[in-house]
Amino acid sequence: MENFDSELWKLINNTEDYIKYGSISDRKLPDMVLKKEEPDTLEAIAAQIAGCRKCRLCEKRRNVVPGMGVLNPDVLVVGEGPGGDEDMQGQPFVGRAGQYLDKWLDAIGLSRHTNCYIGNVVKCRPPMNRDPQPDEIDSCLPYLERQIAILKPKFILTVGRISSAVLAGQEAGIGRLRGRTYSYKGIPLIPTYHPSAVLRDPTLRKPVWDDLRRLKAELEEIKNGR
Ligand code: SF4
Repeated sequence: MENFDSELWKLINNTEDYIKYGSISDRKLPDMVLKKEEPDTLEAIAAQIAGCRKCRLCEKRRNVVPGMGVLNPDVLVVGEGPGGDEDMQGQPFVGRAGQYLDKWLDAIGLSRHTNCYIGNVVKCRPPMNRDPQPDEIDSCLPYLERQIAILKPKFILTVGRISSAVLAGQEAGIGRLRGRTYSYKGIPLIPTYHPSAVLRDPTLRKPVWDDLRRLKAELEEIKNGR
């Protein structure tokens, strides 16, 4: 269809040129003919991520990790980036921290299989599990932004400092960020600790549980139309 449109455009212009000037000029095709807007889908974004080389994280990845879960989720969970297990399997939060996250979600009636979507700010593993760098985040963030626009989650739960700071739009450590509800483009967002941090430091269990209970209560209010 795109070829047909370009050929038709050329034919009309060539005819117009010939009638007006007796010769044919070399006009550029307009964007509306060259670029047809395709509807954005999670599959299309995943395919683009699979071939993405926009930042240095593509160099050592085994697999990209676009995300997994359901459309229109109650909650979108966002971490910072894939770890070793995730890089091996191409799925988010599948290692020990991921299994712990699944327990958190289960405790408040959530699951990646029924009512959640789980993703990360960067889709390729940072080497040695280092923090993603600001330029890597800038390169990758448009994928997450497009995913959120399609997913339309009712709520966002960010786990860890980086995803919390990026999506809440506040530069602060997670200890200072957590404890209140933010908004990402009108979607309520609660930040909490990353499950791997809680596995390392059990004293963080209590604040995480407080955050999860608040998330459940606020989500119920949204679902009940309050
Ligand atoms: S981290 Fe994101 S921007 Fe960088 S190569 Fe992977 S998909 Fe592309």
